[in-house]
Amino acid sequence: MTLLPSCHDVQTHLTEYLEGTLPFHRRFGIGVHLLFCRVCSGVLRGLRALPWVAKASLKAPASAPEAAQQALANVQALLRKSPR
Ligand SMILES: [Zn+2]
Repeated sequence: MTLLPSCHDVQTHLTEYLEGTLPFHRRFGIGVHLLFCRVCSGVLRGLRALPWVAKASLKAPASAPEAAQQALANVQALLRKSPR
């Protein structure tokens, strides 16, 4: 299992990423991928230029803090288990 999503996976979920509807662990993986991938960050810039996506991205994420904390705990547990 890889922790970071592929370019295909990132680009498939970019709209949900912008809308803030993905679970925390998915947003985290995509966010890290976007830091290092010029192709996907370019696609993200293109999506943000679309008015309906820009409007939707201004809304607060619909996630609950408890769910985000649980997802972070799950990711940290996976990182502790994974061989180095
Ligand atoms: Zn990419």
